[in-house]
Amino acid sequence: MTTKTVYLGGKGVTKRIAIGGGAPVSVQTMWKEGITDLATDNNKLDRILRELNDLSMIGCDIVRFAVPDIPSAQGLCLLAERTAMPLVADIHFDYKLALECLKGNVAAIRINPGNIGSVENTRTVVEACREQGVAIRIGINSGSLPKDLQEQIATGKITRAQGLCETSAREAAIFEDLKFDQYVVSMKSSDVNETIQCNKFYAEKYNNPLHLGVTEAGPLIGGIVKSSIAFSTLLNQGIGDTIRVSLSSSPENEVVAGINILKECGKRAGGVKLVSCPRCGRIGFDVHSFVDRWQNRLLAMDKDITVAVMGCVVNGPGEGRHADLGIAGTADKAIIFKKGKIVRTIDAKDADKVFEQELNSL
Ligand code: SF4
Repeated sequence: MTTKTVYLGGKGVTKRIAIGGGAPVSVQTMWKEGITDLATDNNKLDRILRELNDLSMIGCDIVRFAVPDIPSAQGLCLLAERTAMPLVADIHFDYKLALECLKGNVAAIRINPGNIGSVENTRTVVEACREQGVAIRIGINSGSLPKDLQEQIATGKITRAQGLCETSAREAAIFEDLKFDQYVVSMKSSDVNETIQCNKFYAEKYNNPLHLGVTEAGPLIGGIVKSSIAFSTLLNQGIGDTIRVSLSSSPENEVVAGINILKECGKRAGGVKLVSCPRCGRIGFDVHSFVDRWQNRLLAMDKDITVAVMGCVVNGPGEGRHADLGIAGTADKAIIFKKGKIVRTIDAKDADKVFEQELNSL
């Protein structure tokens, strides 16, 4: 079922993002530090703005910030005024924080009607969002289900996945009663199968866009494995409109992982496809550090090409023969190859410089 289209981005937001309704699946991340001090710390404000720009360059579409207090809400407004990146305010319990954020150019508010006190509080936030053209995200975690559903899960009447789906439906019903449909639903569990199941249940019954995420997914490698399995299963069934790979790692790694998952699922086309060898005893070139240096620059490039970084000349050009541009090592030399044909042999110390020249010529 095609989902409804929800637009992230209020009146003052320069870059609006469509979620759902067949729009490209967007990639998001969450900021990893507090922003209470941005009004007085210009260096930090400038640094975060630079980092938001870097995230945008590698393909990040949305960034969410925790807003636990009024100074954080004001800090988020300062950022939102100065960046084109759509920013989402993540709020729990206090609806007044949402109203404070809505004084600025936030793109969306994450808030759950069930934990902000009363329907009247929800109505106040919804009316402010409606007025500003700002979307809302409902975020349900497996640890925050209502008591009656917890009891049904404990007695085996329903599964936790069904409980997550039912909780989301109850929260969504409050918005529907207020005739507000600009909301995205996210249901998160740290269990891969539970994440898959609850999203499938929801998608079978409702057509609100879904934000996919495996919560507390874990450290870099384990987290990427969990998210890849959950997201690819769902995306390949047409479920999921925006994703966040939640990792005990940097926002940058979350974004790079998310983009790679989308590419492998055929949900994000174009851009540079980077292939690199794992290295072995034949290594004549430090593939790992070269890839580390170039990965983000390649992600940021607007070229639809394949680039290969290979450790040796024995297998490199052959294994990377489909690449539009490749580099492989041989002792203190490196070779540049195109579609499997060696076009230049250079000193290894010039690898980055020559690689850049060749890349720019494509
Ligand atoms: S390209 Fe060379 S160094 Fe890399 S894995 Fe293959 S044989 Fe080993």
